[in-house]
Amino acid sequence: MSLEKYQAKRKFDKTIEPKGEVKKSNLSRFVVQKHRASHLHYDFRLEQAGVLKSWAVPKGVPESAGVKRLAIQVEDHPVDYINFSGIIPEGEYGAGTVEIWDKGKWQALDGALERGSMKFKLSGKKLQGEYVLVRLKDKKSWLIYKI
Ligand code: MN
Repeated sequence: MSLEKYQAKRKFDKTIEPKGEVKKSNLSRFVVQKHRASHLHYDFRLEQAGVLKSWAVPKGVPESAGVKRLAIQVEDHPVDYINFSGIIPEGEYGAGTVEIWDKGKWQALDGALERGSMKFKLSGKKLQGEYVLVRLKDKKSWLIYKI
């Protein structure tokens, strides 16, 4: 796992986002950040192998079963990003406001991200229960839904 793509996209003398490092922990945390950028979206991030595996979910992670949402995988983020909220300045990558919409713990139940299909459990304030992430043909596109 590396943060090269994350770090290459950002100027850390301009943005207040963490530069971060790969940091392994025994925790399995998740966060959803509401990101009012050029287009409002929700960033869904799962802590795994020292980074945050990350997806931009235009319509947000569903709170109830029966709704499938597109999730576009984006570059791995540093684990320190899990606590990030604030304003990314105009002109910088991802310019806009970031607020923490939900956070908590997650647990893999079946499958794995590397295999393109994973069932997992979320224990957050808003998001609770069993979810599926499944990769579509174009590799960066996934579906996320609650079961
Ligand atoms: Mn975003």
